[in-house]
Amino acid sequence: PHRTEEMMPDLAEPHVAHNYSPLPVTAASAEGAWITDVDGRRYLDCLGAYSAVNFGHRNPEIVAAARAQLDRVTLTSRAFRSDRLEPFCAALAELCGKEMVLPMNTGAEAVESALKVARKWGYDVKGVPDGRAEIIVAGGNFHGRTITIVGFSDDDDARGGFGPFTPGFVRVPYGDAAAVADAITDDTVAVLVEPIQGEAGIIVPPDDYLPAVRTLCTDNRVLMIADEIQSGLGRTGTTFACEHWGVVPDVYTLGKALGGGILPVSAVVADTEVLGVLHPGQHGSTFGGNPLAAAVGHTVVRMLADGTWQARAASLGTRLHTRLADLVGPDVLQVRGKGLWAGIDIDPALGTGKQICLALADAGVLAKDTHGSTLRLAPPLVITPDEIDWMVDRFAAVLRGR
Ligand code: PLP
Repeated sequence: PHRTEEMMPDLAEPHVAHNYSPLPVTAASAEGAWITDVDGRRYLDCLGAYSAVNFGHRNPEIVAAARAQLDRVTLTSRAFRSDRLEPFCAALAELCGKEMVLPMNTGAEAVESALKVARKWGYDVKGVPDGRAEIIVAGGNFHGRTITIVGFSDDDDARGGFGPFTPGFVRVPYGDAAAVADAITDDTVAVLVEPIQGEAGIIVPPDDYLPAVRTLCTDNRVLMIADEIQSGLGRTGTTFACEHWGVVPDVYTLGKALGGGILPVSAVVADTEVLGVLHPGQHGSTFGGNPLAAAVGHTVVRMLADGTWQARAASLGTRLHTRLADLVGPDVLQVRGKGLWAGIDIDPALGTGKQICLALADAGVLAKDTHGSTLRLAPPLVITPDEIDWMVDRFAAVLRGR
């Protein structure tokens, strides 16, 4: 048998906590859209580390920026300034059309930070009585794995066994603006929403949803927080997924691709009226905004500045979705998504999403299932049109073989 087949998680990684169930593929190296395993077998990476590798594995421009910074200074903590942080924050704020950036590390931290900021804004600026702030979230949401965040999830796997949870959250169905309207009270400080739900299966909301949420937030003095950690930074063919509906949120949470596929870099981005509520000592992170992260993040922002990557994702996305639409029928029940991002519902009779992913891996394509029989594809934006065709052909062959 394959060396990688012997390396099933429990046998191969007895010292690694079993909070994941990885495919039996053991990466040894990667370049662009391809991962090579320890046996020298190559796989087309169609997961892209959940959109964290938007610019390809070891993107030369990003690696060069990181290398250069490794030779200067990598970590100062925020106790001192570095010459990298302000330029990075200025560039990211400009990309977002906002004034300020709160640099953090992981996506969950950015979301937690945005929730803290929204509550403080509610008390300090909106005038909500102390301890009463409410935040509206969506059914099917995925915003990370901290106790507060899983506490307002409706996924039993995510929250079961981890209570008690943080109060102050109200969950309403995703895509239903009327339900948001009904849930808003004088104590509502924010609506937190993924413009397209990622982990839920690449769920694209009805066209009137985000504009209606925007209007509700404006009319009721509520912050609209768009979690663009997975959907943002080029993935959907625009810098932010919100742009597809002409919506500008008050607060962006960003992460994943902001770290260029090299290290965790996340951020909360908003105007001074919002982020200005944080004063020294009220929030922080030892690694947040470190010089290495800032150098990498700034390079990512620079790369996105002229729209080339976004345009590439849009045109490759058209190809991907055109090819996938041809597969819809008895085996492929539905395909959703925008740009280079797709959720594919397979007929459960063909097997679980995990089984399809195992067969795909055998065929040289790495993808990830989510929730039962849904597959999601988020290949690096460096993938070529021919590679997309090759991947869809492999996928069709795997389905035919079942
Ligand atoms: N928010 C969204 C929309 C995500 O998709 C994710 C990760 O999948 C997160 C937040 C959490 O990011 P992290 O895993 O870096 O904490």
